[in-house]
Amino acid sequence: MSDAPATLAGRFAIVQASVADACVRAGRDPSEVALLPVSKTFGADTVREAIGLGWRRFGENKVQEIQAKAAALADENVSWVVIGHLQTNKAKAVAALASEVQSLDRLDLAVALDKALQTQGRSLDVLVQVKTSPEETKHGLAPDDLLSFLDQLKAFSSLRLRGLMTLAEASEDESRVRACFQSLYRLRDTARQAGHSADRLSMGMSGDFALAIAEGSTEVRIGSAIFGARSYKA
Ligand SMILES: *Cc1c(COP(=O)(O)O)cnc(C)c1O
Repeated sequence: MSDAPATLAGRFAIVQASVADACVRAGRDPSEVALLPVSKTFGADTVREAIGLGWRRFGENKVQEIQAKAAALADENVSWVVIGHLQTNKAKAVAALASEVQSLDRLDLAVALDKALQTQGRSLDVLVQVKTSPEETKHGLAPDDLLSFLDQLKAFSSLRLRGLMTLAEASEDESRVRACFQSLYRLRDTARQAGHSADRLSMGMSGDFALAIAEGSTEVRIGSAIFGARSYKA
């Protein structure tokens, strides 16, 4: 966005207005769609500035980054939401620091998280990540495996199932992007019919949130449109 406002407050305002506009165009109430700011690669100072604007929940994809920012922001009450692929050896740190994991995609991770949570006497909201796009690089449970996975999740008393998450295919073709979101929407119906309390649909990012909202998203995860372009050289 070449005409993006220079301040963080300005960019938050633009994104919030765009999300609200997408809701109205989809015939939905803007209060149905939450905004999760994704602060990955941006430092604790930037997150502190966002906290000053009233934001308390932040999406991150690396546990080490959460650890560093949580330490620097120990004086603040922040909810860290894990949205990136997680290795099981990070379960202890996640159990200690995160309030939610949206990238739960396999049984051994559920086992490791539940064990760490039991030890720490905590529990965690989880969204199950489903692979709705054909790209090799994307993580997530195969749609066909979702129901049996949700059944297995019931055994883990520290994990509270809240919904489903996906990343759409990165494509110029709108219909392919929409198909990913539609697939997650239908999977939630199937999950609910099977008795699972999977109400939330986390789908949509800076480049595709309007389509996701049109297809029923209840939460959009937005990074670059708020914080600016990411630099990974650190
Ligand atoms: C980085 C990331 C986002 C945000 O992406 P933007 O395109 O910067 O808005 C959303 N979801 C996941 C899982 C991510 O890793």
